Amino acid sequence: MVLWLTGLSGAGKSTIAQAVHALAKPRMPGLVLIDGDVIRALFGAGLGYKEADRYQQIGRIQRLAGMLSGQDIRVIVAALYCHPDLMAWNRANLPGYFEVYVDAPLNLVRQRDVKGLYARALAGETSDVVGVDIPWHAPQAPDLIIDTANETPAQSARRLMQAVPWLAELVSTGGRNDG
Ligand code: ADP
Repeated sequence: MVLWLTGLSGAGKSTIAQAVHALAKPRMPGLVLIDGDVIRALFGAGLGYKEADRYQQIGRIQRLAGMLSGQDIRVIVAALYCHPDLMAWNRANLPGYFEVYVDAPLNLVRQRDVKGLYARALAGETSDVVGVDIPWHAPQAPDLIIDTANETPAQSARRLMQAVPWLAELVSTGGRNDG
């Protein structure tokens, strides 16, 4: 089973993925979080941020997610770069694939600027920023869109869990449980 979160830098992928992982892990020991930034830190030597490098970075994550899910591990992926070909590969090859577009308008992610990336791009100090000088290919057929502009991370995490079949059972519906 693979849950794949895509979205611009600063949209909220890591925040939501970490929250879902923290909530689910105690009752789902075989759950692994694959964060794109972590994979870069582990294996990214020689990999830059140009579109071709980003494509390769996603390829690594896809193969890793495929290998783990083939061993009955449930996988949450938080990864930025999105391309129709890559998402089509995911859908065709990753078992129990569920795709989430973590959406926030560009002006909001620029304002959040979690990594200072957009400010550096604006100042001409960096390039190869998706949504600035690399086109953002928003996912065309996600299973769920989460608009992080209008809710808290906790709300987003809960909504996501309710929508994913293998996570839904872990969140209460908020209904009565007193019989
Ligand atoms: P990404 O992993 O997509 O680059 P991050 O998760 O690192 O983004 O950063 C998202 C930022 O937006 C965090 O500072 C987070 O607190 C904030 N934020 C505000 N609302 C939400 C929400 N509903 N879901 C996720 N993050 C949110």
